[in-house]
Amino acid sequence: MASLRIGHGYDIHRTAPHRRLVLGGVAFASDFGLDGHSDADCLTHAICDALLGAAGLPDIGHFFPNTDAQWQDADSQVLLQHVVRELRARGWQPVNLDASLIAERPKIAPRLAEMRTVLAASTGLAPDAIGLKATTNEGSDDIGKGLAIAAHAVALIEKI
Ligand code: MG
Repeated sequence: MASLRIGHGYDIHRTAPHRRLVLGGVAFASDFGLDGHSDADCLTHAICDALLGAAGLPDIGHFFPNTDAQWQDADSQVLLQHVVRELRARGWQPVNLDASLIAERPKIAPRLAEMRTVLAASTGLAPDAIGLKATTNEGSDDIGKGLAIAAHAVALIEKI
């Protein structure tokens, strides 16, 4: 039987003016972005943590500390590609991903197919091995008030 592992990731970033909004590697035309050291792509960060968690590795902050100028405004797809290389170096590869993005705005659903294409390229997965959903928090809490965007992800990995 194949050796399989599952992992979970969660991330949240506060919204901020004068920042680019990048989610799942896709840039949105928006009057706000997300605050963070890198491009603050919380969906990609949650996926990174799910993959790292599945492999029993420390979280994204360990590999890409926000005190390291190298990762300032970094494209999070570069981080995700690095995470997949870390897994492969330990004999693991992704099998599938499933993630949920929680954002009051902008409208995410029309861009989900683009995100899957970008995330597939970064992970070496087929787009149909990447599940993506977008929902809102129905106006409740800080996410619902548009003050933050969050993402949850799970990842399955297998021994190469
Ligand atoms: Mg993050």
